[in-house]
Amino acid sequence: MATMSLRTAPMRVAQIPKPGADFQMIDRALPHPGRGEVRIKVQACGVCHSDVLTKEGQWPGIQYPRVPGHEIAGIIDEVGEGVSEWKNGQRAGVGWHGGQDNTCPSCRRGDFRNCRHLKIPGISYDGGYAQYMVAPVEALAPIPETLSDVEAAPLLCAGITTYNALRHSGACRAT
Ligand SMILES: [Zn+2]
Ligand SMILES: [Zn+2]
Repeated sequence: MATMSLRTAPMRVAQIPKPGADFQMIDRALPHPGRGEVRIKVQACGVCHSDVLTKEGQWPGIQYPRVPGHEIAGIIDEVGEGVSEWKNGQRAGVGWHGGQDNTCPSCRRGDFRNCRHLKIPGISYDGGYAQYMVAPVEALAPIPETLSDVEAAPLLCAGITTYNALRHSGACRAT
């Protein structure tokens, strides 16, 4: 009779062990999503200049080791308790906005981007330089069929920074 292995399959991550240190490629156990979270099988992750904040320890309160990466495109492969709007197999992206507390004055005005306790993937929790990562549902953006993972990932931070500036400048407005 075959015995089932209960050992959790590992995943590969690129982590920063401490501020200023080099990247380390290591195996870790697969993370599981908690309430209101999903696990994403990472298909692509952009490299943003802000990743240096994690690499060099230039953001207050980072706990190490930490896996950087906040331009994540992937596929949901496990949903946590209480998650109703997202399903396994669905494509999802996570950018700089990695979650909010929903209770601070900014959140109560609907200004989640300026949440007093804003979470950032790769800074507040482990990000996309990994085969899998876990994110809260309020951080998720659906990825349309027309965009590949490689095209979608950098749009989630660096891309939106430039696109939003162009959009508000009127440079890409149809006339
Ligand atoms: Zn808030
Ligand atoms: Zn960025």
